[in-house]
Amino acid sequence: MKLLPQETAEPPSRCEATQTTLPLTLNIDAPGEAVLPRIEVPRIPSPPRFPIGAQTRAFARKYFPDATPAEWDDWRWQFRKRIRTLAELERLFILSDEERDAIQRHKGSLPVGITPYYASLMSRHDADDPLRRTHIPVGTEYIQTLGEADDPLGEDHDSAVPGLVHRYPDRVLFLVTGTCSTYCRYCTRSRMVGAVGGEYSFSKSQWEKALQYIEAHTEIRDVLLSGGDPLTLADEPLEYLLTRLRAIPHVEFLRIGTKVPVVLPMRVTKNLTRILKKMHPLWMSIHFTHPSELTKEVTESTARLADSGIPLGSQTVLLKGINDEVETMKSLYHGLLKRRVKPYYLYQCDPITGSSHFRTPVEKGLEIIEGLRGHTTGYAVPHYVIDAPGGGGKIPVVPDYLVGRDGEDVVLRNFEGKTYRYRDPGGKAGASRGKAAKAKA
Ligand code: SF4
Repeated sequence: MKLLPQETAEPPSRCEATQTTLPLTLNIDAPGEAVLPRIEVPRIPSPPRFPIGAQTRAFARKYFPDATPAEWDDWRWQFRKRIRTLAELERLFILSDEERDAIQRHKGSLPVGITPYYASLMSRHDADDPLRRTHIPVGTEYIQTLGEADDPLGEDHDSAVPGLVHRYPDRVLFLVTGTCSTYCRYCTRSRMVGAVGGEYSFSKSQWEKALQYIEAHTEIRDVLLSGGDPLTLADEPLEYLLTRLRAIPHVEFLRIGTKVPVVLPMRVTKNLTRILKKMHPLWMSIHFTHPSELTKEVTESTARLADSGIPLGSQTVLLKGINDEVETMKSLYHGLLKRRVKPYYLYQCDPITGSSHFRTPVEKGLEIIEGLRGHTTGYAVPHYVIDAPGGGGKIPVVPDYLVGRDGEDVVLRNFEGKTYRYRDPGGKAGASRGKAAKAKA
């Protein structure tokens, strides 16, 4: 069985083109002569294609003039044409000296890889463009600062069998592939993605060992498929894997973690949604970074997934100078809600080796949550978490709205900074801060 893409692109299920009408004249008494009532006959729309935004269309015409619309729409074409070399990058971008040096120095895992579609959203000239910074390396990537590690979350240590992390009692993380359609420079799994080898072969036999482990452990009720990106698998192996998992009686719930609907939206084909629909309950966590990712294409990919009954949540890594402003996040989260994606996790950036230029102080994350909570729709406020180095799991970090206690009252602070009391007879919440609360309230 081939694990790499091999399906044929499907015609999209939805069309953004509006149906137009064709005026037709008929004369019932003397056909072909007089003009009688105009009957509006709907024009049959041509087979719909994946929508394409104006910026992407101009980019495709300029840099991929030989690509047919069908090729541009074909996720396998996009995957094959990923921008991976210095020469290809130089053709599309005016690189800074630092970027050029960093690309030339690169060896091993986490290669450069950008789909033509995603490249179309990046600035040609500005090396500080948010999306460009997340995908084109710079020199800091080669500097290891204090506290950084190749596997900061201790996933290798918690692996029950290669590629299967069993850290929490009732759920597992199943790393099904080392391939992504694009490679994010801050990737938590930078040690293993984009370069198959070592204990992460992601072979069929590795899958089998992981499946056997899940079958044997009846306490596992939730399986999160990740990688790499599971949606870079071709339809056949993906369907095989999901079907095997679905057949395990104690597995109640499947999840897929993916960035594909954002960076390779045309992967969300009719055939893919047909497969996914059969696997319910299936949830999806989609990796978003910045509002400039919210294109027509992403509106379509998320609509197809949501229309297939898949609950969609987002996960976003907080990145210095890229998305660390309240207004940037608000714009992203409002855009996600409009696309039926619930902002779910905001991650403090993991301390992987060479990530110091991406990491913000923790108070930045708190500031963003404070700037959202109460100021906009509650659904638009994600959980801000730190994935504890060493394998402690996700720990929520929240602004403190509990000011203290005054007798039988809990003293609280609202989003505007005003204090309020809630009568809580017999309770203890806030007691350790009682005196300060009395003074403030
Ligand atoms: S898509 Fe996910 S797994 Fe792949 S490089 Fe980006 S963060 Fe890492």
